[in-house]
Amino acid sequence: MAQLDLLVTGGEVIDGTGSPARPADVGVRNGRLVLLPPRSHTPAVDVVDAAGLVVTPGFIDVHTHSDLLAGDDEQREVLRQAPLRQGVTTEICGNCGISPFPVPPERGGPVRELIAATFGPPPSAYASFPEFAAAQGVARRNHLAALVGHGTLRAAVVGFAQRRATPRGDPADVPAARRGAHRRRAGLSTGLIYSPGVNAGTDEVIALARVAAAHGKPYVTHLRDEMSQVESALEEAIEIATAAGAALQVSHHKTAGRRAWGATVRTLARLERARAAGLDVTCDVYPYTAGSTALHAMLPPWVIADGVPAMLAAIAEPAVRDRIRTDLVAGVPGWENTVGNGGWDLIRVASAPNSPDVQGHTIADLAASAGTDPVDYACDLLAAERADVTILSHSMHEDDVRRVLASPLTMLCSDGVPKAGRPHPRWAGSFTRVLGHYVRDVGLLSLVEAVHKMTAMPAARFGLPDRGLLADGYEADLVVFDPQGIADGATYDDPLAPPRGVRCVAVAGQLVVDGDEISQARPGRVLAVPDRAPAVPGRR
Ligand SMILES: [Zn+2]
Repeated sequence: MAQLDLLVTGGEVIDGTGSPARPADVGVRNGRLVLLPPRSHTPAVDVVDAAGLVVTPGFIDVHTHSDLLAGDDEQREVLRQAPLRQGVTTEICGNCGISPFPVPPERGGPVRELIAATFGPPPSAYASFPEFAAAQGVARRNHLAALVGHGTLRAAVVGFAQRRATPRGDPADVPAARRGAHRRRAGLSTGLIYSPGVNAGTDEVIALARVAAAHGKPYVTHLRDEMSQVESALEEAIEIATAAGAALQVSHHKTAGRRAWGATVRTLARLERARAAGLDVTCDVYPYTAGSTALHAMLPPWVIADGVPAMLAAIAEPAVRDRIRTDLVAGVPGWENTVGNGGWDLIRVASAPNSPDVQGHTIADLAASAGTDPVDYACDLLAAERADVTILSHSMHEDDVRRVLASPLTMLCSDGVPKAGRPHPRWAGSFTRVLGHYVRDVGLLSLVEAVHKMTAMPAARFGLPDRGLLADGYEADLVVFDPQGIADGATYDDPLAPPRGVRCVAVAGQLVVDGDEISQARPGRVLAVPDRAPAVPGRR
């Protein structure tokens, strides 16, 4: 047999299908896989001895906010390495309704502010997916696929106003949202708790999801509520996908806040029923009881209704702060009130670039030390950071996390928000935490099931051809790890600490992680996701 580029020999192969582990060698030639008998002794340029280790397809992280990690600076380099070290060979960005494209240059102002407040400066925005892809440059070690964000589309057309779309200002009318524009993208995302997505009615989202469905792309949603109204929010998502004929992906499924603890018993049963009724629905989850999002999302939606600059001006006003306090206590219909469901003592600052001293502390503690009220503190911090503040919110129950993770409808994600400071450890720890803690230590699911949730299941959902399996001719993205030693290293105090037990990671057949070393190889690229036949008949 002709020489291979890479041979991983002597390991147990878990191929991603859900089939049991079996001894086999895995070869790579021209970036494609060749499955071989165990201990095949096939000649190869590089040989990895995988005795005692398992070999799996590269992991696919279906939900990230890593859209704007391109760049030469040290900080982004460190952030880019974190998922790689735990075996993530493909990231899917553009989630929760915010993608840095398509932003028409003539309408880019408000969207740029939103992008800067979401991903951190500079406010990079691109007119189209090809422009976005080109801007990723050649510096990637793993692959990136992108969803298009409904919030981005809406901000460009309707702005941040709390009004419904009109025939003259309908996100479905942006050229970039029309049929044809979904080519190469992985699907449509919404973030219906976030401004400006929060202002959209169900019909508007159906219209956009229908376009995605025509290209065989899924509707991917951060539900309108993941707390006490999570069940009605889930009904809306099912209605949207059913009416649009789209497959449905419920993002980072959780039922957060004391009043919603335990509700996953009902939400998962509801998803099962929807599946039985013919809807192609799945969800994803990250394996932690804390969430992470923007600090401004803790405020009622009217605060950011006119965009970021107007919000910063408004929250300087004492009367506005009083109204925020009132609404946090009383709630606002249709708005997920995280602070009202929990309290400022559960909200911890993850990233505040101009105020590093506050990172890691709760808003309640920071306000108490400053001798001020938490709403005043939060507003002052937003002003000092031009709204670019990320928080952690300790809001979920472990039983719910486990229930979702164990469900056959669930695949894995990190929901990573890769920013400086003290980001959520999920960016650097989710995949190895599942393999070590939940598979080996807790026994919540089998290793074979967990690998399936990280590989073949997401590849099928997002239509990534020739990925997610160890099979002849597939793309040579793979991970070799020690099932007895694998563990997450990342913690809330040390959020980018590397995992243990990962022997090596290959992308497109090139070793990008080899032991503790990150190689200089840059085989990653922006994936163009091909169209598929519409997945679901739907009611049109
Ligand atoms: Zn989200």
